[in-house]
Amino acid sequence: MEPRKRVYLDHNASAPLLPGARTAMADVLALTGNPNSVHGEGRALRKRIEDARTAIARLAGAQTSRTVFTGSATEAITQAIVGAARAGAVDRIVTSTGEHKAVLKAAEAAGAPVDEVALSTDGVIDTVALGKVIADADAAGETVLVAVHWVNNETGVIQPLDEIEALLADTEHFLFVDAVQGFGKLPMKFAASRIDMAAVSAHKIAGPAGVGALFMKARCDKFVLIPGGGQEQGRRGGTESAALIAGFGKAAQELADAFDLERISALTGQVEQLIETHAPDAEIFGRRVRRLGTTISFAVPGLANATAMIGFDLGGVALSAGSACSSGKVSKSHVLKAMDVADELAQCALRVSLGWTTTEADIEFFEKVLVSVLAQRKSGRGAAA
Ligand code: PLP
Repeated sequence: MEPRKRVYLDHNASAPLLPGARTAMADVLALTGNPNSVHGEGRALRKRIEDARTAIARLAGAQTSRTVFTGSATEAITQAIVGAARAGAVDRIVTSTGEHKAVLKAAEAAGAPVDEVALSTDGVIDTVALGKVIADADAAGETVLVAVHWVNNETGVIQPLDEIEALLADTEHFLFVDAVQGFGKLPMKFAASRIDMAAVSAHKIAGPAGVGALFMKARCDKFVLIPGGGQEQGRRGGTESAALIAGFGKAAQELADAFDLERISALTGQVEQLIETHAPDAEIFGRRVRRLGTTISFAVPGLANATAMIGFDLGGVALSAGSACSSGKVSKSHVLKAMDVADELAQCALRVSLGWTTTEADIEFFEKVLVSVLAQRKSGRGAAA
């Protein structure tokens, strides 16, 4: 019997591993040693790490010597935010209500006062409110760490980083960007930008989970979370995982060929049309603003996401209800709440995210399953509570 077809439309949670990344990891796992040892074995591993660092820094337009490997983007984010506060460099943290929990929780843990600026109903950070917080901080003689995301993981909305950078031009404030969902997909010029620190994650660019990176400017060199044995030039203690880092580096090298944003955006456009055709009452979040052409967050009134997701899964389609959450259960999205989406509609929110493996045939299959899931709504089986 042929295996049942599966279509994976949850790339924002974790993108399928690129074959080169898998091979690079297997090659490194066959090696012996510690990359911090000076003997031949150690040096062979060190070379894999440094090659990966070069590839990742290049993709971000960052300086290789200020690209620090971490155990995840969450750790990189925490290093940036908690590290800055702990170093006594900032008096206040300003973030937004639409951030990933990794940012919100790090801000909470940092120990400095936190301001959260709102999102518009389209999911865009309110830069006027942000400017006001900065002006107030200037008046109070405070140094602020602005911690915001680039591309929203749930809605795909692209934040106005240019405007935020302009607000901070000619000031001493710090700017941290959670670049996880934009990295490798949109052009990034970290070194030339006003951004002081940016966090990225390997598994969002078709590398392995469990490794991330923090790009830093010189003035952030002392923002350390894990001093440990002084690895990563004293910026992140702990023996580096050469295998995961090599997989990350290979993914960064291969992504440009594998990930064609124009092709993927066209497929995403088809998904959007299918939703509009089969569920004309569906709401597509952030549709009026600039979004990355990989992501659609939508809700079909009356079709509860918890039930719909099971229907999609049984039908062979993997998608998600907002972000992938650690507990594996469907919880209400704080991002949609920040966009003022009514609770009843937020309970129906689903996220489709496409990537390098997605094909036309996948979208045709998605349509079939969508139609059968929508039929459940008509029969009342998928009704929202
Ligand atoms: N920031 C954003 C925007 C994300 O989408 C994610 C992952 O879901 C993270 C941070 C956390 O990344 P990691 O899984 O590497 O800790």
